[in-house]
Amino acid sequence: MQSGDPCPETNVTRPMTSLSDQRQSIFAKAHMAGFRHYLRTGVFPQEALNVMEATQSDAAMKAAFNAFLAKTGPQEDSPGHITGKYIWRTRGDEKVRPSHAALEGQVFSWDNPPAIGHPGEDHNCRCMAEPHLEGIDPSKLKEFYTETLIHAPRDGEDTWGTLRMLEHYFRANGRPVTLEEIGQLNAVIRYTQYEVIDEHGQSITDRVVGDFSDRIRQMKPGPFADDFSREYDFESLIFAHGESTVAGDVSGTFSKIGSFLIFTIVIDYKFKDVFFDPVDAQQLFGFEFEPGIPYPVTGSWRTRIEAVVREDREKSKYRYKEK
Ligand SMILES: [Zn+2]
Repeated sequence: MQSGDPCPETNVTRPMTSLSDQRQSIFAKAHMAGFRHYLRTGVFPQEALNVMEATQSDAAMKAAFNAFLAKTGPQEDSPGHITGKYIWRTRGDEKVRPSHAALEGQVFSWDNPPAIGHPGEDHNCRCMAEPHLEGIDPSKLKEFYTETLIHAPRDGEDTWGTLRMLEHYFRANGRPVTLEEIGQLNAVIRYTQYEVIDEHGQSITDRVVGDFSDRIRQMKPGPFADDFSREYDFESLIFAHGESTVAGDVSGTFSKIGSFLIFTIVIDYKFKDVFFDPVDAQQLFGFEFEPGIPYPVTGSWRTRIEAVVREDREKSKYRYKEK
């Protein structure tokens, strides 16, 4: 998945030429997305209301649309990769496989990966893609990032709704489930990339980029590895999820060019939640149940983020902002 993919609910990826022509359909899509959300959760989301309200005037629509574009990763004129090429870097320790060690220092094109794939794509690969800066004019750089999905288990065919989640709670003795088993991994990944989760207009991925931009601003260029773990509210995705932990092991490398930092990181995301009865089923249905047993819901996936950020934190749109 490229982060330039259209948002599944809104399906807008390029600047509109005729705002008035588009307003009706955007209104309808926002209304439909809001209604689907309402069916799942019982709440009509504020986001959808904002978009619907904005369709009432061209100026408001344009502002809402630009805000939407600004949040969803690369602009249309951004290249898919920050540089066309990268230098293969291994961790340089004894765990590096010989086939990966053989690639150390070689230059590859993003369009033409070696047989084992780009760094991080082979199973458990910890290698890094150092941006190849030759021929890059720092005066032409702009801040942006892209996120590409490298590995994720496939979702099962069934998507569990609230009742299925409850049934498991009452009948399965607390057996843990994975997001792919309940058919929600893809939705959770999309959510981390596209859903605005704070008042700064940021998605979870925006916060990861801001966080690591801040961390490397304190470091000397080169390889780095670190992790993060934060709690997020996934309730709007499905009723069953409340406060969930999104954690990640991050490794990558960064370079400095002009007043910019360019980094490539691979993130092993880990999602963790515990399902409790969210509605108090006993009250809802009005009779006694055997008590249910809470069960863990977990998921993992791997992505690569490439980013260009300003070294000067104050001039950058990528910095860690508290919720
Ligand atoms: Zn490797």
